[in-house]
Amino acid sequence: MNELLAHRLKVLGLRDVDRILTHTNRTVMVSLTARRVLRLHEGYASAPDRVLRAIVRFLNPRLPRAVRRGAEREFLGFPVEAYAPPPARPPRRERPRPGDIVLLQRLTELHQRLNQQHFGGGLGALPIRLSGRMRTRLGELTMDLRTGQPTEIAISRRHILRHPWVEVEHTLLHEMVHQWQAETGLAVDHGRGFRRKAREVGIEPQARRHLARKADGAPAADVSRATPPASPPGYFPGSREEA
Ligand SMILES: [Zn+2]
Repeated sequence: MNELLAHRLKVLGLRDVDRILTHTNRTVMVSLTARRVLRLHEGYASAPDRVLRAIVRFLNPRLPRAVRRGAEREFLGFPVEAYAPPPARPPRRERPRPGDIVLLQRLTELHQRLNQQHFGGGLGALPIRLSGRMRTRLGELTMDLRTGQPTEIAISRRHILRHPWVEVEHTLLHEMVHQWQAETGLAVDHGRGFRRKAREVGIEPQARRHLARKADGAPAADVSRATPPASPPGYFPGSREEA
């Protein structure tokens, strides 16, 4: 698979790289060492040429910075982990916390209501999980790699604690647009189809967004700075300029 990926990158114009290695950690999606070793996430082996071409542009130091930044946005928008999940993610589940049952019930009912309202009830019922490990992402859709079908929606606990419920609704609807993509056989990404559907259901079509803070004075995260430079896929807080 690495060889095919290397071959495709070269055909698409990659130069000056001696070796290509892939990984499945989520910290750095694409990096080039001083020794001309290109490291990139294994999920890019499943990416279309458009995304690989963006990587090639990003790695070309002769291109203007704005072009390289645009290229970076493009390849970061590809959901690598949907194609190459991190190694043996420990199956330990988080301990349930007081109030979880009520919260999950509320999210499940919200999913049903939004499904009726925006998707004609066509989406499948999905388990919803609360995640205390999602620190920068707001929500995440998990898919079965073999079938491409969604298996679960996770919502960040921090997000629920820090932001008004209307923002949580927005996040769930964002993940439901991804669910709709997966269940209708479309690519799960933030491309044009996503943006069109997002507008149709009345949410911001960006992959990142500014969040209102809770009105009760709860300490709000500096969400616009919460995003590391090279981000794993998922749904992030952030600014529109970065979307
Ligand atoms: Zn998303």
